[in-house]
Amino acid sequence: MRLEQLPKDFQKALPILKNIEEAGFEAYFVGGSVRDHILGLPIHDVDIATSAYPEEIKSIFKKTIDTGIKHGTVTVLMDDESYEITTFRTESGYQDYRRPDKVTFVRSLTDDLKRRDFTINALAVDHDGNVVDKFDGLTDLKNHLIKAVGVAEERFHEDALRMMRAVRFQSQLDFSIESKTEQAIADNAPLLEKIAVERVHEEFVKMMLGQAWKKGFKAFLRLDLAAHCPGFHDAINNLTKLLKTDDVQMLDETMVWVSIGHVLNLSGDDLNHFLRLWKVSNQVREECLATENTLYDFQSGNFDIWNIYQNGIQNIPRVEELCQLFKIQIDKDKINKAVSEIPIKNSHALKITGKDVIDILQIKPGPKIGEYMNSLEKAVVTQAVTNSYKDLQRYLLIL
Ligand code: ATP
Ligand code: MG
Repeated sequence: MRLEQLPKDFQKALPILKNIEEAGFEAYFVGGSVRDHILGLPIHDVDIATSAYPEEIKSIFKKTIDTGIKHGTVTVLMDDESYEITTFRTESGYQDYRRPDKVTFVRSLTDDLKRRDFTINALAVDHDGNVVDKFDGLTDLKNHLIKAVGVAEERFHEDALRMMRAVRFQSQLDFSIESKTEQAIADNAPLLEKIAVERVHEEFVKMMLGQAWKKGFKAFLRLDLAAHCPGFHDAINNLTKLLKTDDVQMLDETMVWVSIGHVLNLSGDDLNHFLRLWKVSNQVREECLATENTLYDFQSGNFDIWNIYQNGIQNIPRVEELCQLFKIQIDKDKINKAVSEIPIKNSHALKITGKDVIDILQIKPGPKIGEYMNSLEKAVVTQAVTNSYKDLQRYLLIL
């Protein structure tokens, strides 16, 4: 197969391929960008594979960064873009089920394609748009199939993360997993425990954010991957509840974790502990706890504007999506009206400062100031007082 026209992102990177070829080496576009372009999806990063060794790449281009030089990856900077250029390589060892003991640079494209995870990810395109397809990846693309390159069982033994990648691509692309590949996942799911939580986390969240997340999540449960993830072992029954929800896309990582927390009946400290098990970032973890609080308020009908404000007005659109997902009846108009009437978005918008409080009350700086400020903020948010210096000053004096 030959691509009629190279996509814009490939055209822009053509000088890189040309420069490498003029120096006497081979270079191809590879991986996700080739797959996504053939599927008519937007490309996010253009990866290039080459027969040149990293040192050879560095001598061809002026501006390079040693991104992962030990594994053969050099980043080349050109026209405000950066491209990862990786030397053809084979991998061997894999005694720990997660990474090769040895990476060997090779000069053959076929050898490089052989080490890739799925046939749809093992396609390469040359400067003329010719597609190199050694493992029938094009047929699998057409049939919407995720199929391991070579013997699936062996490939998951080499790197158990590939099992999570399979369900992740299933969800992102709305594909099916080929039967032998699927059987090999079911047989080897316990190997997932060998993989660092951070890497499983990354694939899990990508899966949940995919267009066909229920399909990916269903396979994740059915193939027993879930049982080998943090905090899920005894929770499979509850997790299946997520399959019975409305068809709603997950907005972001926070929405993913709050929905999981919701079906597992986790809140407060328990939710916090669960999120720590998954090594969720501090920022997302805090956002999850606040979002869960507001969701609880909405669900219980306990509509406290001060609570909602404290948990962050910016979380409301996400909470509304969660309510739709879980078919929780809420009065959106009432909520939106109440929220739009809150006079300030955050404490910075208060027309009085801590220093003003000190001056007005003639008191010394200390924790008391924070308490006064908090009372003033609450009074403004609940509209007990208007947000003007004069009114706040008067209010403060009668507090
Ligand atoms: P994305 O759209 O998420 O970037 P991608 O297919 O580009 O998808 P990457 O993780 O960026 O995925 O990896 C780039 C390519 O490297 C893949 O297409 C695949 O060929 C290869 N690859 C990545 N991870 C693995 C792995 N664990 N085992 C084998 N090959 C892999
Ligand atoms: Mg990629």
